[in-house]
Amino acid sequence: MAPSSAPPLLLRRLLLALALAASSSAAARIPASLTPISRDIYHSSDSILHEIKALVARNSDRLTMDTVRASNKGYSAEMVVVTYNHAKETVDNGSKINILLSFGQHGRELITSEVALHLLYILTEKRKIAGVDLSSFEKILENLVIKVVPMENFNGRKRVEAGELCDRRNGRGVDLNRNWSVDWGKKEKDYNPFEEDPGTAPFSEPEAQIMRELSKSFKPHIWVNVHSGMEALFMPYDHKNTTPDGVSSQLMRSVLENLNHRHFQDGCLVGSGGGAVGYLAHGTTTDYLYDIAKVPMPFTFEIYGDEKASTDDCFKMFNPVDKTTFDRVINKWCMAFLILFEEGLRNLPDGQVVSQGTLDNWVPMGGEIVERNVERKSSNEHRKLEGLDLGMQELRTYFRLFMLSTFLLMFMFCSRISKNRNRESGEQSI
Ligand SMILES: [Zn+2]
Repeated sequence: MAPSSAPPLLLRRLLLALALAASSSAAARIPASLTPISRDIYHSSDSILHEIKALVARNSDRLTMDTVRASNKGYSAEMVVVTYNHAKETVDNGSKINILLSFGQHGRELITSEVALHLLYILTEKRKIAGVDLSSFEKILENLVIKVVPMENFNGRKRVEAGELCDRRNGRGVDLNRNWSVDWGKKEKDYNPFEEDPGTAPFSEPEAQIMRELSKSFKPHIWVNVHSGMEALFMPYDHKNTTPDGVSSQLMRSVLENLNHRHFQDGCLVGSGGGAVGYLAHGTTTDYLYDIAKVPMPFTFEIYGDEKASTDDCFKMFNPVDKTTFDRVINKWCMAFLILFEEGLRNLPDGQVVSQGTLDNWVPMGGEIVERNVERKSSNEHRKLEGLDLGMQELRTYFRLFMLSTFLLMFMFCSRISKNRNRESGEQSI
């Protein structure tokens, strides 16, 4: 939000005091035995979005950004979607491969959004991966349109940053990877209501609605839902202990096995989520994308996990806590995505590529775009509106205060007059 009209000093001090009180009480809630967020290594959610906005502004020839908002029953969510389109003005003939990468669906998995940010730097500003020559990937990138959702669950992430380190759900307690419609709401014996609340209905959550619209309008060939908690390369299904039948399933498996072989020395777990992870999950994104949205290659990547961490030490369990491991994980998985792009391009049949739809003319069907960097005029207008809104809010507050104090003064004045009259008339009230 652009600070177009600065609040008065008193108001700013009050807000600052409230913010400090909130952060210190959040810190106080974390017991000393648990690992706090390594704030010297990790970005805050706000600073990630800030950096991404700056990156998009610097690379407007390749990047565009939409901020999408949706709401349902008093709860609203905003999501940033960045689109990378190499040489977008020359190639828009429907022959490109569409890729969607989604990070941060679970609030506590902070490392995933760091990978998103770094990958965007690699794609646009040639940030290095140690010991790797990335120039060979330039040619591949020309054939791709990549949409990146760096922080799918922004509200949930805010709760984690406020001290709820084990929370993976959205801002009103729903697990966004249980809110999709395939096999929705089914509960296993080991169902954990804190972790896996599926919501009141399929797609009850604005975040899931926005992502579903993305699957419909962008029609990706490859979708990766990026998580942490372990290291694995998953394909459908999550709600049963099998992989789908047929050629497309074999194709998915061979892409993952090639990636595992080339990049992880066959060290990653590969297979169906439901078969390999040790529990079945119902209403997941990947199963919907495969069964309903017909995305040819929907994957779930699990990029890091500390098995030795105690189960309540969530920051440590889901995120690297030292800088060396942090850098290693980020580089390793950015490289994995580049290899995935290469494998996808090689393995996707030509027919499938042609059959896919729109590229970067994305219009969300459910949510509303509140900011789009390519339409600078309307975006500036929107900011102007925001400033106006803020000014009106302040005016309203001052007006209410003025009315209240006037009312009190009138009341005091009237009661004084009535007392005087009583005294004058000599009436006794007792
Ligand atoms: Zn997760």
